[in-house]
Amino acid sequence: MNSLPRALYIHIPWCVRKCPYCDFNSHEQVDPDFAGYGRALVHDLEADLERYGSTPFTSLFFGGGTPSLFPPQYLEPLFKKLRELNLISGTTEITLEANPGTLDLGHLSGYYELGVNRLSVGVQSFNPDVLKALGRIHDRSQAIAMIEHAKAVGFTRINVDLMHGTPCQTPAIAREDLDVVRDLEISHLSWYQLTIEPNTAFYSKPPKLPDEDILEVTEEIGSEIIESMGLAHYEVSAFAKPGEEAKHNLNYWEFGDYFGLGAGAHGKITTERGVIRTQRTRQPSNYFARTDFHATEHPLSDGHLGAECLMNGLRLKSGISYACFEERTGLDPVEFRAKHLMEADRLDLLTSGRFQTSELGWRHLNHVLEMLI
Ligand code: SF4
Repeated sequence: MNSLPRALYIHIPWCVRKCPYCDFNSHEQVDPDFAGYGRALVHDLEADLERYGSTPFTSLFFGGGTPSLFPPQYLEPLFKKLRELNLISGTTEITLEANPGTLDLGHLSGYYELGVNRLSVGVQSFNPDVLKALGRIHDRSQAIAMIEHAKAVGFTRINVDLMHGTPCQTPAIAREDLDVVRDLEISHLSWYQLTIEPNTAFYSKPPKLPDEDILEVTEEIGSEIIESMGLAHYEVSAFAKPGEEAKHNLNYWEFGDYFGLGAGAHGKITTERGVIRTQRTRQPSNYFARTDFHATEHPLSDGHLGAECLMNGLRLKSGISYACFEERTGLDPVEFRAKHLMEADRLDLLTSGRFQTSELGWRHLNHVLEMLI
C-alpha cells in the first residue's frame, strides 16, 4: 500500500460538566494538570513517530472533552515540536473545538497565535429550553459572543455544531436556531440529529423526543434553510461554503490515516503489517502515569477493511473513487462490490463506476450501510 495522507487528532479529556447525551471520553474537570498534559502530548507524539515513522500532517484537530478549557500556553511545547520536525506548515488546517460556556478572549487569541486557524463551536441550540434539556453550560448570548469574538480575533473558518431531534425541540425552534446561524455568516455547519448512546444519562433515563412526523418536517425545513445560506450538503451531517469543507473530517471519511494522541484517543495507521487501529488508555490519570505512551493495536482483517472504508466513504455525497478505495484498503473494488454490494446494485442504490449512493440510496443510506455489516 502507498503512504497515505496522515492527520493528527489530539484529545483533551476534561469538561466543566458532563452532558447527559455524551458518550465521549470526557471527565468533569477537577483541577487538571494542564502543564503536565501538554508535556505528555509531546512524548506521546514522539512515541508514535518512533513506531510509525514521520510524515507531515495534512490537518490537526483538538477534540474533547472541551479543548477550549486548555490554557494555550501549555500547548506551546506541542506546536514547537510539530514545527521543529516540519510536521505542520502555514497551510495545515488546525481546528480546535470550543464550548461557548468557556468563553475566554485570552484563550481564543492564544490559540490563534499558536496557529489554530479553524474553530468548531459546540452550540447545539440557541433555545434556552433545549439548552437546559441538553445540560449545556452556556446560553444563547455566550454562543453568539464566542463566534463574534472568534471573528474579531481573526478566525475566518468557523464551524457551528447544531443538533436537531432534541428534547423540547419543535420545527419552529429548529428554524429559529438556523436563522441565528444564518445571521452569524459562518463557513461550515454540522447539523446532526441527537442519538441516544449507551453509557449516557439519557440512555438510563430517556427523555421525551420529537416523533417521526416532527423529525421529518424539521429535516425538510432545515435542508431548505441551510441551502438558502449557500452551504452545500457534502456529508450526512456536514454543510460548507465552497472550499470550506473540513479537511480533517474528509480524511476520516476517505479512510486516510491519523495519529490519535491523548487520553482515550483512537488512531488508524497503515503499516507494513497491514492497517491497525490504535487506542490510548481512557482515564487521564492512567494516561499520565504511563511513560511509554503505549498504543493498544487492533489489526483490521481484509473483511473489515473494505466495510469500514465504505461505512465512512458512503457518508459523503460524492462517495469515494475506486482508486481511493484500492489505495486505502489494498482490495480490488470491483470484486468487493460484486461480493458485498450486489443487492444495493440490484435496487439501484449506487451509481456506477465509483462507490457513491444514487439519489435513492442517499435517502436510504442506513439500509445501504447495513448491507456492509
Ligand atoms: S461538552 Fe461535549 S465532550 Fe463535554 S460532556 Fe458535553 S458533549 Fe461531552
